[in-house]
Amino acid sequence: MQKHNIFHFVFLATFFMTFTVKAFSQAPLFTRQDTLRGSVTPERAWWDLTYYHLDIKVNPSDSSIYGTNTVTYRVITPSKVMQIDLQEPLNLSSAVQNGRQLTFKREGNVYWIDMAEEQEQGKICSVVLSFGGRPRISKRPPWSAGITWTKDSKGLPFIASSCQGEGASVWWPCKDHMYDEPDSMLISVNVPENLIDVSNGRLRSVVKGDDGTITYNWFVANPINNYGVNINIGDYVHFSEVFNGEKGPLDCNYYVLRENLEKAKLQFKQAPLMLAAFEHWFGPYPFYEDGYKLVEAPYLGMEHQSSVTYGNGFKNGYRGSDLSGSGWGMKFDFIIVHESGHEWFANSITYEDIADMWIHESFTNYSENLYVEYYYGKKAGSEYLLGSRRNISNDRPIVGIYNVNYEGSQDMYAKGGSMLHTLRQIINDDEKWRSILRGLNQDFYHKVVKGSQIENYLTEKSGIDLKPFFDQYLRDVRIPIFEYFVRGRELTFRWNNCVKGFNMPLKIYVSGHAMNVMPTGRFQTVSLNVKKGTIKVDPDYYVSTLNMTGK
Ligand SMILES: [Zn+2]
Repeated sequence: MQKHNIFHFVFLATFFMTFTVKAFSQAPLFTRQDTLRGSVTPERAWWDLTYYHLDIKVNPSDSSIYGTNTVTYRVITPSKVMQIDLQEPLNLSSAVQNGRQLTFKREGNVYWIDMAEEQEQGKICSVVLSFGGRPRISKRPPWSAGITWTKDSKGLPFIASSCQGEGASVWWPCKDHMYDEPDSMLISVNVPENLIDVSNGRLRSVVKGDDGTITYNWFVANPINNYGVNINIGDYVHFSEVFNGEKGPLDCNYYVLRENLEKAKLQFKQAPLMLAAFEHWFGPYPFYEDGYKLVEAPYLGMEHQSSVTYGNGFKNGYRGSDLSGSGWGMKFDFIIVHESGHEWFANSITYEDIADMWIHESFTNYSENLYVEYYYGKKAGSEYLLGSRRNISNDRPIVGIYNVNYEGSQDMYAKGGSMLHTLRQIINDDEKWRSILRGLNQDFYHKVVKGSQIENYLTEKSGIDLKPFFDQYLRDVRIPIFEYFVRGRELTFRWNNCVKGFNMPLKIYVSGHAMNVMPTGRFQTVSLNVKKGTIKVDPDYYVSTLNMTGK
């Protein structure tokens, strides 16, 4: 999800800079709850998720959710205690295995469940968790987790979940850590019969109750990360089309409020455009079996897997404005492009620890300029990306803190995108670059990964040692400065303001003629063809420049 906030940038860039830097220089304090939420505890590690059946009744009249989640798992190492996450104010009312009630105790947002039966290694087991209550209401969806209960213009309920960051356990009991995903999932949602629930995957069946309710059964045939699971409930109307993509026909289904059908039919014409562009750059859409959906939601948008939620007002740009200021941002619907880009980077290739959220957001931010390039040319893509740099704050590193569910700077968006664009310049071979992007999606297809795996992959496939490059842009806030001076026919230069060993090659223009240089931390001098040449650094590299003679 794009967590852009224009005011945040304006403040940072002016008055509050010093205070912000000070505030972030102090390490945050973490609690035992943060560790339980953010690490692979022994009580999580012994069992491997294979399947969830989330079966719930959503009551708009009192904002409550009641139901069960049946958790199916394979025993890796026999153990006696299972960790299940469910956040207050929701309660677990029972845990049952093979008809036997299990005892459990609560510690904040965690339940410790005593496994009465022996958990035999290699065996597939299930536990049925009953839960309910009035889940937290999201204060600022999708940036704060919870349920949003609103109404459409006719007064009918319009309800949605969103939970990235704080986690899925804000509305259902689960193993709330990204390292483990079920291989498939069934989501059954019972709602008043005048409403429709849209969740992830394909609609398997609709079952009408005799109590004025109706149940929608959605089946996800692929692994799904927990924050990707969602419910969207409203007076939806539906239309569809088939996109003929790299893997064959892809079912595209669109659900919008009845009042927005005509607007959606126009605006969602961008969905197949997005699919064509991203299949070109990244390879086939990663969830053909589950289809692709755009679902209207009562907030801006979120990358829910195979059920991308949309609330951008059926307008181009980001809520009708251009985040890049270049003009190109008004050529497309930001939410359709950005949130769907996450199908490749977030839903197929998924971070293990939210500290590595750049895997999702840097690549997806970068995908926006690739979209622009695909339809408007390389120069346009570059202009969009360079314009997006106004959203960078360099307040703290892009990588967060591991094992405590703590994400890094919002620079994971625009700065991360600029980092990848810079990497493309270093590789300096567009077809190779595209094959690396497609290779990532092939080799890490439906995988949960650490940031280091992606960094190592890019080093290996580019044939360039990128360790100092990633240390610089992911784990440091400084922007390297290309320091230089010209004397006669000689150019002297080095990198400064950078990590030790930073040695990124750079393209410069000497009086308009391109030249590649290999600066390091030490001064070096090269001969130029011209006397007193003017030096300009290629703006596609995200660096600063200092003419040491001040001219
Ligand atoms: Zn995003």
